[in-house]
This record gives sequence, C-alpha cells and structure tokens, in this order.
Amino acid sequence: MANFHIKGKTAVITGASGILCSTLARELAAHGAKIALLDIASERAGQLAQEINGAGAEAVSFYCDVLNRESIEKAGQAVANRFGGVDILINGAGGNKPAATASPELSFFDLPGDALSWVLNLNLMGTIYPTQVFGRFMAKQGSGCVVNISSMAAFTPLTNTVAYSAAKAAVSNFTQWMAVYFSQNCSPKIRVNAIAPGFLLTQQNDYLLKNPDGSDTERGRKIISGTPMGRYGLPAELAGAVIFLCSPAASFITGAVLPIDGGFSAYCGV
Ligand code: NAD
Repeated sequence: MANFHIKGKTAVITGASGILCSTLARELAAHGAKIALLDIASERAGQLAQEINGAGAEAVSFYCDVLNRESIEKAGQAVANRFGGVDILINGAGGNKPAATASPELSFFDLPGDALSWVLNLNLMGTIYPTQVFGRFMAKQGSGCVVNISSMAAFTPLTNTVAYSAAKAAVSNFTQWMAVYFSQNCSPKIRVNAIAPGFLLTQQNDYLLKNPDGSDTERGRKIISGTPMGRYGLPAELAGAVIFLCSPAASFITGAVLPIDGGFSAYCGV
C-alpha cells in the first residue's frame, strides 16, 4: 500500500466550495495534501479553509473564476507564492442550470442561447483554462496529476440536459487529448484522468430528482432502478478514486475516465 499516498502534495481544486469538491478537499487534506481552494464563492471557500485548518491540515482559499484567464493566472501566481508549485489539479467547477434544461414548460426549441453557452463554457472551458494555467507549472516541474470531473451524461446523453451532456462528453474527450499531449510534449510523469460520478443527490440536481415534498421524481425513480446498487452515491465515495488517481499507485494510468456509479453505466436495464 506504500504507493497509495498524496502526503505533502499541493492540490489545487476549482469549484472547491461546492458539494462534491468540498468533500474532496476535506478528504485530500485528511490524507496529507496541502489544499488550494479556488472558487468564485469566496466566503464559502474561506470558511472551508478555516474548517480544514482547524482540523490540523493545511488549506488556503483564493478567488478564481475558471472562465476568466486573468483571474486563473492571478490565482495561479498566488498558489505558487504560497506553496511553491502545484502537484495536483482537480477541475471541479461545473454544473447545469434549469434554464438550459428541456422540460414540459421549456422545450428544446426555446432553450435560450445564453444559458446553453453558460453550461458549455463552465464545464468545458472551465476545465481547459485552468489546465492551461496550472498545467504550465506541471510542465516546468516535469510532474503532476490532473483529475477532471465528467459524468454519466458523457457516456450516453441524459434526457433534458442537452448542453450538460454535450459538455461532459467534451470533458471526457479533452481528458484523453490532454493525457496524450502531456505525455508526448511535456513529461510522461504528468497524468490526466477523469472521474465520472453516477447519480449523487446534491443541490445541483435536487430539482430534477426530488419533488418539493421530498418524494422521488419520476426521473429519480428511473435512476434508482437503473443503478444496480439501488441507491444514490455519496460525495465521499468519490474520494478514494481521486486519491488513487493522484497517487504513485496510478503511475501508468493516464487518459482514463473512471465511472463511480453503482454500476449504472454497466447496466442496460435488462
Ligand atoms: P456545486 O454546484 O455544489 O459546486 C460547483 C462549485 O463551482 C460551486 O462552489 C460554485 O461556486 C463553483 N463555480 C461555479 N462557477 C464557477 C466559476 N466560473 N469559477 C469558479 N468556480 C465556479 O456542484 P457539484 O454537484 O459539487 O459538482 C461538482 C462537479 O461535479 C461539477 O463539474 C459537476 O458537473 C460534476 N458532477 C456532479 C454530479 C452530482 O451528482 N452532483 C454528478 C456528476 C458530475
């Protein structure tokens, strides 16, 4: 088990104060990584840093808008000044919004362009831009690990979430592209992988999965029946895979998209 560690590594996490990435931040910190929490939600990120530091680990929060190169460069410089380098980048900022989601009230034909572009940009460009900025640090030091966050929607598009599905398919594609680029042009010691979480119940998707009275929507019922393990996942269940992918134990793994889905992507329903 000696290779399964990230102790002493500096990990940059974007979207760090969100539901999944705040859990990842706590777990990575508990396993000895120094954490740079990047988010536009500065107050929440600051509170998370306090919490992690209070638990005896090390975290600092920085304002960073993953859609703004200048903002990422500024955060990158601040991270380098504080920690001296970057070993791990988790591209966690992403998500969907109701205005970009087809529904009985809002057909595909009426989905507003600005909402569709926002979702495409946040998930895809919000992964590419930070990889450009932090990947440059990794290229200089000749080592590093990037973990992107894809989705079940990348394997087979989910109904209604048109831009989100397209964007996450692009994130998986970019994961492979970037893995090849780093190995061939920078160093084979810079690895890029993605996790593809299955269905976790979070703020981001509760409007799709739960009725106002707390009961499951029809979509929620379909998801549970399509998940052989018969339940939603928990954010903490992503952490082991992320730590593994960033550890020396995964030294020959690059360009992989790892489903963490209770078997959803393995099951055709029959
Ligand atoms: P979340 O909404 O709780 O967190 C997203 C975070 O990103 C928030 O803290 C938000 O402030 C931040 N953010 C938004 N725009 C930003 C920007 N421009 N720059 C920097 N930060 C920004 O979402 P989550 O459920 O924790 O999801 C995290 C990632 O996991 C996303 O990529 C999401 O698509 C993906 N994912 C989630 C699920 C799920 O079930 N929740 C499943 C598969 C994939």
